[in-house]
Amino acid sequence: MRALRLPGWKSEPELIEVDEPTPGPGQVVVKIGGAGACHSDLHLMHDFEAGAVPWNPPFTLGHENAGWVHALGAGVTGLEVGQSVAVYGPWGCGTCARCRVGVDPYCENIAAAPAPGGGGGLGADGGMADYQLVPDARHIVPLPDGLDPVRAAPLTDAGLTPYHAIRRSWPKLVPGSTAVVIGVGGLGHVGIQILKATTAARVVAVDTRDAALRLAEECGADLALLSGAGTADDIRRATGGRGADLILDCVGADPTLALGAAAARTVGDLTIVGIGGGTLPVGFFSVPYELSIQTTYWGSRPELVEVLDLGARGLVRPKATTYPLEEAVTAYRQMRDGTLDGRAVIVP
Ligand SMILES: [Zn+2]
Ligand SMILES: [Zn+2]
Repeated sequence: MRALRLPGWKSEPELIEVDEPTPGPGQVVVKIGGAGACHSDLHLMHDFEAGAVPWNPPFTLGHENAGWVHALGAGVTGLEVGQSVAVYGPWGCGTCARCRVGVDPYCENIAAAPAPGGGGGLGADGGMADYQLVPDARHIVPLPDGLDPVRAAPLTDAGLTPYHAIRRSWPKLVPGSTAVVIGVGGLGHVGIQILKATTAARVVAVDTRDAALRLAEECGADLALLSGAGTADDIRRATGGRGADLILDCVGADPTLALGAAAARTVGDLTIVGIGGGTLPVGFFSVPYELSIQTTYWGSRPELVEVLDLGARGLVRPKATTYPLEEAVTAYRQMRDGTLDGRAVIVP
């Protein structure tokens, strides 16, 4: 079968022929129907070096996957060949306290995971291939009626990651509240839809690109602001001087973190989901009182079930452009150049 492999750090991926996987006991092979191209893959190709993460190339890219059950290993029950499914992407040890409640991204025994601290497309083989080996059937989530693999694939990360981050702020997103989404890319545009579908907050989007602001408005943002020196003041003005109850920073660079802290409300949340690597000085006089600042990484398996429900009901619809596997490299190039709207989904 064909697979888009990352051969090493600081290298371009290559499409090569590899053996089709066969499932061992408890495992499942999925025929890929859609594999989302994530911005974090660009960091894997260009920025990471040995030691940055606890796993290493070579592996097949693609950590946002959905398709159809192709083959079941011995002992797997409750799934049928041909059934449409999503693949839960973060693969932990399966038995620690976190994994037991479906929070594999925060696995506390990563040495026992298929790829320590990673998953399919992140150290282990991912879904940018004709087939993907899923090492444990618990990572398979059946798709609800009305959701096909192409639409489901981006929901497993570009949907699940902002969903998890937003869900933990739900108690603060009451009527009269404001949520700000910084960075309207693959995660951000879905985050806007999730905020509109699950909360009463007014949604403000911030980006440096006009096209992204138009996408934000299509997704239901109440206000879309071009990022600049006065953006924090604009947000304060739009909120009667109070500031935003949730800042969802999908970039995570120094300037966006500073903007978030300047535009946040007291007792608000500043949640960093973008892996831009920035830092924010935090001290008694530098951020609003009781502002909670946190990073989040991906989401839980129960939350994926909830996101897929939002997708099946049309409440959350990632904007996606499909590409054949042969053009996956082109899709990544467009993503790097900033000419890609929403998500690229590779369809083998
Ligand atoms: Zn991702
Ligand atoms: Zn674990």
